[in-house]
Amino acid sequence: MELRAKVPEGPIEKKWDSHRFDMKLVNPANKRKYTIIVVGSGLAGGAGAATLAELGYNVKCFCFQDSPRRAHSIAAQGGINAAKNYQNDGDSVYRLFYDTVKGGDFRSREANVYRLAQISVNIIDQCVAQGVPFAREYGGLLANRSFGGAQVSRTFYARGQTGQQLLLGAYQALERQIGKGMVTMYPRTEMLDVVVIDGSARGIVVRNLITGAIESHAADAVVLGTGGYGNVFYLSTNAKGSNATAIWRAYKRGAAFANPCFTQIHPTCIPKSGEYQSKLTLMSESLRNDGRVWVPLAKGDKRRPDTIPEAERDYYLERMYPSYGNLAPRDIASRAAKRVCDEGRGVGLTGLGVYLDFAAAIARVGEDAIRERYGNLFEMYQRITDENPYKVPMRIYPAAHYTMGGLWVDYNLMSTIPGLHVIGEANFSDHGANRLGASALMQGLADGYFIISNTIAEYLTSKKLAVVDTTHAAFEEAEQRVSDMTKKFLSIKGSRTVDSFHRELGALMWEYCGMARNDAGLRTALEKIPKLRDEFWRDVNVPGSADTLNQALEKAGRVADFFELAELMCRDALERKESCGGHFREEYQTPDGEALRDDEHFAYVAAWEYAGDKSAPILNKEPLDFEYVHLAQRSYK
Ligand SMILES: Cc1cc2nc3c(=O)[nH]c(=O)nc-3n(C[C@H](O)[C@H](O)[C@H](O)COP(=O)(O)OP(=O)(O)OC[C@H]3O[C@@H](n4cnc5c(N)ncnc54)[C@H](O)[C@@H]3O)c2cc1C
Repeated sequence: MELRAKVPEGPIEKKWDSHRFDMKLVNPANKRKYTIIVVGSGLAGGAGAATLAELGYNVKCFCFQDSPRRAHSIAAQGGINAAKNYQNDGDSVYRLFYDTVKGGDFRSREANVYRLAQISVNIIDQCVAQGVPFAREYGGLLANRSFGGAQVSRTFYARGQTGQQLLLGAYQALERQIGKGMVTMYPRTEMLDVVVIDGSARGIVVRNLITGAIESHAADAVVLGTGGYGNVFYLSTNAKGSNATAIWRAYKRGAAFANPCFTQIHPTCIPKSGEYQSKLTLMSESLRNDGRVWVPLAKGDKRRPDTIPEAERDYYLERMYPSYGNLAPRDIASRAAKRVCDEGRGVGLTGLGVYLDFAAAIARVGEDAIRERYGNLFEMYQRITDENPYKVPMRIYPAAHYTMGGLWVDYNLMSTIPGLHVIGEANFSDHGANRLGASALMQGLADGYFIISNTIAEYLTSKKLAVVDTTHAAFEEAEQRVSDMTKKFLSIKGSRTVDSFHRELGALMWEYCGMARNDAGLRTALEKIPKLRDEFWRDVNVPGSADTLNQALEKAGRVADFFELAELMCRDALERKESCGGHFREEYQTPDGEALRDDEHFAYVAAWEYAGDKSAPILNKEPLDFEYVHLAQRSYK
């Protein structure tokens, strides 16, 4: 497999402009001759579908929820980064670029990250024009707050509901195009295969989740904006429906899967409280603007937090990382929390928790100011834990949150299947081995509003596509495959629920491929996962039928894919014999416990190629060059 990143020549600050000039355009009158499928209606897919339709392409947009408005993006809380420098605190496009490359521990492609930083400023203008109600200062200017891994305040926000407000903006842009007949929307429809004809992506096969009908859709190009795969851990902060099926099935049709083991464990989530829990809840990183993280100095100290004197507390992030303090990047803050809990200093009943304390901030600015900044998050916390965080510190612990890995894409966001483009969390680009807070919304909207709308023309004008419709044999074959899989699930009639398998898989992944990984653990996981997967295919019980709404059937397909993806994640983690960002191999650490990269051997993107069910996947490598941000040991001290 050839990995051609197609990064344009020239100085980094000129690459995107010159590329846009050099790319061929599709004449406005010709755009309506093309049909583009967009799978996903979150921030990436919704923005992409609306923008492509606004340009004049015919768009078919698919999502599995009942409305595009319910995409998981709606859950995003804390904010979106942009290098506007409204605070005049030293920010610039270059600084955002620099922070993001460094934050990703030098495992991302410089040119993509620079473009992201450049476009960030346009995103804010676009969203303000749509009416997104970003928080404002007293004088009316847009407000900013800080997020991890940055020493400037560049995060735009709408209380703790930024994703919801941004998605409403994208959704109304999408609805406008639906109203104009330029987008045909297919809610409650799940893509289950990509159809590749003569080497190019020419359509998809979907299942109508209400009627069970399996249908084909043909197009000139396909765009996947299908989100991340954090739910492979079962317990995660993601929406329950988030899954890997779209990108996994594309992988099995020839799209390389990049850096699958790069997952983000977010430091501030409400700790797990019991074995029956099915979901974890994020407490936004923005809370660390005002909340101070601490544990008791002494092991096993079970006193109430308000009775522990200042001198007997360890504000360990402030102690270990004085320059960034509580706003150390996520991978670093998560590992530090794990370390103090492993030392026996964790709080709460399970001992797997640390305090996030607002007492000092409330004393400084008053409860009302804190309520105004984070009111909805405090309310959410109180509803879940029955504790009042205005009075007692929150208890938090790291949880699976975001996936930096995803389908490999070139600079044009095209996968290794020509015509198949991937945007948002579903692709691997931009965040390297660790994503900085408030950068996912920025990337999803950059991809959707500003990049794919330009780069898709490069593909469409690059060759003459044969006329193809859904009577082509490739569609029949894919439909048959989907239908056979559906029948197979229903015929097993075993004794265990889909969820019970998913829960067990998630526990294995958390144990062996979670916050810390090592050679022996990963090998154990690689033995256990296939056994559990075989048991799943022998003993899963999917009740009901295929021709009605059947959520167990939906989940069965998703969990079957998670099993295969989990194995690839462990393989990737085993292969990468270094620590970088969120990928922490215990064997490779500095004397003070930080991630120890091996740039000589691992400064590459690992792009895995499917080689059939019976053969091991093939590892392809895209070397990473750092011309602008010099490779260095990350330090937030
Ligand atoms: C709790 C939480 C808070 C967060 N807060 C922030 C934040 O403050 N700032 C920030 O930058 N990031 C944040 N993130 C990360 C960010 O929200 C996500 O990375 C981002 O929203 C993903 O957007 P997306 O468009 O790529 O995917 P999603 O929003 O997940 O959308 C996926 C879409 O694809 C569709 N889809 C998926 N598979 C299929 C299929 N097989 N067939 C049909 N349709 C399919 C879905 O229906 C959906 O429409 C947060 C994440 C979480 C979990």
